[in-house]
Amino acid sequence: MTLFIVATPIGNLGDISFRAVEILKSADIVAAEDTRTAQKLFAKFDIHSRLVAFHAHSTERASANLIAKLKSGKSVALISEAGTPGISDPGFALVRAAIESKISVVPIPGACAAIAALSASGLRMDKFIFLGFLPRKKGRKKLIESLRDESRTVIFYESPHRIAKTISQFTEILGGERKIVLARELTKIHEEFFRGDLSAAIEFLESKKIRGEFTVLLAGLD
Ligand code: SAM
Repeated sequence: MTLFIVATPIGNLGDISFRAVEILKSADIVAAEDTRTAQKLFAKFDIHSRLVAFHAHSTERASANLIAKLKSGKSVALISEAGTPGISDPGFALVRAAIESKISVVPIPGACAAIAALSASGLRMDKFIFLGFLPRKKGRKKLIESLRDESRTVIFYESPHRIAKTISQFTEILGGERKIVLARELTKIHEEFFRGDLSAAIEFLESKKIRGEFTVLLAGLD
């Protein structure tokens, strides 16, 4: 039948769309990366659909199961822990498998940390690239070096315990004057934007105990 790719909030539950709630209510199966987060969403919006787990490590087998259900006429809504499924989250393999099986795939758009961060960053947003999470080791340095002459805004995700190290590494490779924006805890109570250069970003990160989730935006060269 139909596979719905449903975006869910990245913090503030008010960011779910009416259509997303309707689809989650009417779907035969909701496949969720994190069933505990999904249960909170279900409780808040009075959703009672069948919930199944769909995480990164079980993607292939779980995909095959869901494709079988879709082929038997069931509708499936995919949600990730937060934001848009497939964007640095599980989903890609399922979407591709559904398309190969001629199943219709329908996006239900909504929150995405990268796009929310970009929209309020003050950096150029007519052209940008999204790198997801940077590689941890192999190819990391080369990738950062390749951004030296990049003219587009570069967006990537980073975990809170690695952010300071990452910004130091960027400073070493690109120099302290490159402009950067750190979007922290978007849509949540402690939402905060740091806008400045890489040297100042290091000071900002050292100035207080860093908590929460970060989306990083590196300014392109003008
Ligand atoms: N699928 C999600 C989306 O559409 O944004 C992204 C999932 S990815 C596993 C999680 C990463 O997204 C976090 O480590 C962080 O870098 C970024 N992120 C998620 N929520 C965020 C928020 N509220 N504020 C800032 N960054 C966030």
